[in-house]
Amino acid sequence: MTDKPFHENWITPDWAPHANVRVRVTTRHGDHSPPPWRGFNLGANCDDDPRRVEQARHHVHEILGTARAPAWLRQVHGTRIIEAGDQDTDADGIFTHAPQTPCAVLTADCLPVLMARTDGSAVGAFHAGWRGLLDGILEAGVATLAPSGENVSAWLGPAICRKCYQVDAAVRDPFLLRDPRAAAGFTEDGDGRWRMDLFFLAQQRLAAAGVQAVEGGALCTHCHQDAFYSYRHEGQTGRFASLIWLTN
Ligand SMILES: [Zn+2]
Repeated sequence: MTDKPFHENWITPDWAPHANVRVRVTTRHGDHSPPPWRGFNLGANCDDDPRRVEQARHHVHEILGTARAPAWLRQVHGTRIIEAGDQDTDADGIFTHAPQTPCAVLTADCLPVLMARTDGSAVGAFHAGWRGLLDGILEAGVATLAPSGENVSAWLGPAICRKCYQVDAAVRDPFLLRDPRAAAGFTEDGDGRWRMDLFFLAQQRLAAAGVQAVEGGALCTHCHQDAFYSYRHEGQTGRFASLIWLTN
């Protein structure tokens, strides 16, 4: 243990789509949340005390130091995308053209995908669990950020890795129905089970949507339970945030 402030364990990815773009990923370091959310829970939908979650979100805003508070979603494993500031926040993607307005997604094994236009004029955050990935949340995100085919760069945040993520045919089959090339994202694991590679499949979908510049995809929530929340490991647990914003 070290005595440095908990947020100094937050992650600043080595990803620089444009000089205007800033990115942070929170971790579960800290003593704000008691078990089973132990650490620093930002999820409002996992039975933690709403006031404590609100305080944690307030801390995030203070630490980021942005003019406006982060915009949080009520994620529903769908493909709806909103603009930061919209009132109805039942969505799995959020974008903004406005400076100093962090867009946030919350995860614990699902894949957070951050995107930015390489002209620095728009950013977005997207929640890609297997369901959202299958149904096209990333394609919807690209279409929203770059309606005229502008260049987009993407970063894949911490999510459950191929070695840790076992699924059955009910998950694999619809991916292959949609695109047979998705087979390369599944490794046979015996007994009708498969290891699923969310990072690979996300990259494949992004490439098909015209996004070649994809970075990240190296951090596993399940392998690194000291740093992240893992739903597969713990069941009831907290959520960490992946945030992206424009400085000006
Ligand atoms: Zn792993």
